[in-house]
Amino acid sequence: MNNLTYKDLDEAIDLIRRSNRIYIASHINPDGDNLGSSLALALALRKLGKEVLVLNPGSIPSDFVFLPGIDLIKDFEDDVDELDLFIVVDSGDIDRLGPNKDLLDRSKAIINIDHHITNTQFGNINLVDSKAAATGELIYQLLKRMDVKLDKDIATNIYTAISTDTGKFSYESVTSRTHRIAAELLDVGIDLKDINIKIYESYSLESTKLFIKALNTLKLYSDNRVALVKVSQRMLKETNASLDDTDGISSFIRGIGPVEVSCLLKEVEEGEIKVSLRSKNYVDVSKVCAKFNGGGHVRAAGCTIFEDLDTAEAMIIEEINRHLR
Ligand code: AMP
Ligand code: MN
Ligand code: MN
Repeated sequence: MNNLTYKDLDEAIDLIRRSNRIYIASHINPDGDNLGSSLALALALRKLGKEVLVLNPGSIPSDFVFLPGIDLIKDFEDDVDELDLFIVVDSGDIDRLGPNKDLLDRSKAIINIDHHITNTQFGNINLVDSKAAATGELIYQLLKRMDVKLDKDIATNIYTAISTDTGKFSYESVTSRTHRIAAELLDVGIDLKDINIKIYESYSLESTKLFIKALNTLKLYSDNRVALVKVSQRMLKETNASLDDTDGISSFIRGIGPVEVSCLLKEVEEGEIKVSLRSKNYVDVSKVCAKFNGGGHVRAAGCTIFEDLDTAEAMIIEEINRHLR
């Protein structure tokens, strides 16, 4: 799963050129990378005269509704009988598509564009590079190879994708190439200050109250190398916040000095706990999550445990401990 080859890129480009009706799909619980990547690609394909729709991946966090092209996100239109092409972005396997997974067989072909180390190569063409810092980097490569001229809207989406998946260009996945891409996006004329305020400095009071409550549940394990916080349905009701408002809690507690692995447990409903793991230096959290049929990246991964909050806590802590040195 190395750098994309020109051969793979050109095969994908050839297929795109031959297709007219194209759907773009991505993972549930959308984030900056899958939204930015989907929209950048959709805007570019529209420029080429394609009929494009971005399938609704689920409730869009309010930070991202400003993204150019957000109106291209629609629910599946039932009068469509056959699609020429499905492009799936930022999704390690087809289960990550949630209910949209069932639509894949309406398409003649699938292109899979992703950077998850756990990717299952489910496409007819797979543009998968686990070294890419964000799927947005792969979209950039594809558009360059297709000779699509980047405009401000496309560049804003690619910038958002890369910035959000790299902790604002700070993770070890960031390379000189990442910065070179960002430099080019700046040259296109994106409004850096405006984008950064919208994605990083616009949280609601509700989510701030939830953040405070969640931090109050902080527990440390294994000589303070593991930090865990919990968000229950009751806490959401008390603060009038939603599960989307928990973004950033897990990376925040990873910032505690001695912490190697941080864990956020979110009660989606009684008996269904969504786990978000982050690591700092050496634990491969995608392996921890694989144990519970989840996945992701070395430093950020997720899974769902179908138990109550306390049982899920005991189970994930036991598995994390197995991976601590
Ligand atoms: P999250 O903690 O939800 O922000 O997810 C961190 C990373 O792990 C993201 O790249 C997700 O796409 C991936 N991920 C989250 N949940 C799952 C899951 N259930 N299965 C596979 N990958 C996941
Ligand atoms: Mn993602
Ligand atoms: Mn990503």
